[in-house]
Amino acid sequence: MNNFIKSDILKTKIQKEYVNINGREFPFLIPVKKIKINENIIPEEIKNKCLSKTPEYYIYDTAGPYESIEALTNFQIGIPKIREEWMKLREQVQSIQKGNKTIRKGKHGERVTQRYYAKKGIITPEMEYVAYRESIEITQNKIWVEWLWKEKSKEIIEKAVISPEWICKQVAEGKIIIPANINHLELEPMGIGQGLRTKINANIGNSSIRSGIKEEIEKMIWAVMCGADTVMDLSTGEEIESIREAIIRNSPVPIGTVPIYEVLEKAGGNPEDISWELYRDILIQQAEQGVDYFTIHAGLLEKHLPLVEKRLAGIVSRGGAIIARWMKKHKQENFTYTHWNEICEILATYDVAVSIGDGLRPGCIYDANDEAQFAELKIQSELAKRAGNFDVQVMHEGPGHIPMNKILDNIEIQKDLCNSAPFYTLGPVVTDIATGYDHISSAIGATLIGSAGTAMLCYVTPKEHIGLPDREDVREGVITYRISAHASDIAKGLPSAFLRDCLMALARVKFSWEDQFALALDPEKSLKMFMESNPCIKENGKDKINQNYCTMCGPKFCAMKLSKTNE
Ligand code: SF4
Repeated sequence: MNNFIKSDILKTKIQKEYVNINGREFPFLIPVKKIKINENIIPEEIKNKCLSKTPEYYIYDTAGPYESIEALTNFQIGIPKIREEWMKLREQVQSIQKGNKTIRKGKHGERVTQRYYAKKGIITPEMEYVAYRESIEITQNKIWVEWLWKEKSKEIIEKAVISPEWICKQVAEGKIIIPANINHLELEPMGIGQGLRTKINANIGNSSIRSGIKEEIEKMIWAVMCGADTVMDLSTGEEIESIREAIIRNSPVPIGTVPIYEVLEKAGGNPEDISWELYRDILIQQAEQGVDYFTIHAGLLEKHLPLVEKRLAGIVSRGGAIIARWMKKHKQENFTYTHWNEICEILATYDVAVSIGDGLRPGCIYDANDEAQFAELKIQSELAKRAGNFDVQVMHEGPGHIPMNKILDNIEIQKDLCNSAPFYTLGPVVTDIATGYDHISSAIGATLIGSAGTAMLCYVTPKEHIGLPDREDVREGVITYRISAHASDIAKGLPSAFLRDCLMALARVKFSWEDQFALALDPEKSLKMFMESNPCIKENGKDKINQNYCTMCGPKFCAMKLSKTNE
């Protein structure tokens, strides 16, 4: 599969649209995907309500302005800066000219974070945008909600539609974050945290031996078109700065980084030559570019290093390993811990959220839930409280490799120690022996931890542990994690998630294949597989998909068909 929405069938079924909503100060264009539902599956009561109109079904969309990968040809221009006007009204923000670039930062070190405004009870356009966006699958799909829940629908709608006031309160309390650097004007704001749709992150980035700018932007577009809510640029090779600049200018989703990677690159690849001053400068430079969240491994301390000796796999986090090496060589405490207040001041000046890294995440099943892992989590909790004093938005990174029976302990302990701040987990991978299939082994763990309340799931691709993912691996990883996130949302009781599955059931029972493909998390792959395995009837040279069985059971044994015939 080389492209998205290539087929004529899907092009007419799924359309990208923006829903226009009047906010308090600005009009908002909320991105959605609109599916035209075939008339033959529409229940009578909906038909009556819609009269001549074909009912549509709307889906939350992460793809920004992208409808196809061909948009990449314009990557040097960047996508529209939808937050530019919003910034002009923000009194605490100043603009500074640096060469040909305009940099925004808080005036005289003033805090400009979403949390700062939320604590003051000020509802920002970003908070409004997140509230409308999170509610869009209910507000735009009311006729479907009424059809499914009948007399209970009013109550369902009231509970499911989120207000900007509620978002503001959650951001103030640190339970939701909106990663939205004031220099990332191209961003379509999104929220991470309790009560919201489960989000997924896709990691991209080059290594010293593979990939360049074009490939990395392609991967970013590929990721957001498949449904990634944020993208982390984990580049460790050449051109880190220019790759990041191109990604941010073209990204409609928050971009995260692990700044220590660039610090190591600038230090010539030797962890021992890293310094706080170099780290601080890189933080500021990336904040000025518009990075929306940093992973900082400040919870890994000198006193934790002896605990790692007991492990089978030691330290498997790149950032954690770099910091550990530095501490051992210099016999000093982790400089990101000792300089935490200064780091928070930088984050608050640009509104960069922090993802407090899990440098001691277990890298094999044997090491899961060990003393080192939870000792670091305790320090993460302390750092989060201190960051809150600077109005910095915080989430916590979590494991790692964890067997199924130990996964739920992780989220319980995290919620308890970290005051229900958003948890952001890598998988977890539930067995060490699924090489080549680690997107699946980790999605099993991700679904379990997601349904228990994890706010964002970091994807894993089939290449985990063996190589740098290409764009097909990115696609596979993102779709796999959209499955985990969606299944988590059903388990969490999100009506919008449940509703989509009910529409799929309608489409299946009615043999409405086009609706099935359009409602699927990967329409292109499901359509392609159907075409390959079913003899389609041609009509005027075009594929006509109208058979009432598939090759799985055949026409005589099709259970769906048989149960209809019995009616
Ligand atoms: S043939 Fe089997 S798999 Fe295919 S639609 Fe019928 S019941 Fe479903």
